[in-house]
Amino acid sequence: MRCIVATANPDKAAEIVTIMKSAIDLELIERPRDIPDVEETGETLLENALLKAQAIYEATGELTIADDTGLFVDALNGAPGVRSARFAGEHARYEDNVAKLLAEMHDAENRSARFETVAVAILPGGEHLVATGTVEGIITGEPAGSNGFGYDPVFAPLEADGKTFAQLSSSEKAAISHRGRAFQALATQVHQALA
Ligand code: IMP
Repeated sequence: MRCIVATANPDKAAEIVTIMKSAIDLELIERPRDIPDVEETGETLLENALLKAQAIYEATGELTIADDTGLFVDALNGAPGVRSARFAGEHARYEDNVAKLLAEMHDAENRSARFETVAVAILPGGEHLVATGTVEGIITGEPAGSNGFGYDPVFAPLEADGKTFAQLSSSEKAAISHRGRAFQALATQVHQALA
């Protein structure tokens, strides 16, 4: 069966395709380019993930998956959270967001943080499936590594012996990441629902 990956972010889409391919036999399709990206107006990761999936499902009627992800930093009372993409402004680049995060954390003793992903699927009949994934880690003092994207150079997961996500290969990241965990769980649910 075809499955449309609703995310417009190519870095996220590449990770989702790799994770889903290893977990379930579906023909993964890029989101149609003529459907505009939705505004993430929700207050929660779940609302935003559903907004993204719903827009594509309504236009295609096909099985659609989407996610929304946030980085929640304890010393910043959970910021940037649902605003992770726009932390340094509406059209912020990854480097701008990382620079703002490091600046706000410069004297923070508590550096603990977590990534959370909410992954959703909308089945051809309209039913919604939801799965979540979390990874705990710390915000490093400076960027390290060149793999991955976003906040990866400054996020060191507790399970990676002090390396940042950007110092892991894509398969090492997927094995422990928020997105890996969420989409593994979502794939299991989709598999059961389609059986
Ligand atoms: P979105 O709202 O789910 O598209 O993602 C929010 C922002 O979080 C992205 O623009 C990235 O800056 C960041 N982000 C999401 N996933 C990851 C990840 O796996 N590693 C690092 N940063 C991420």
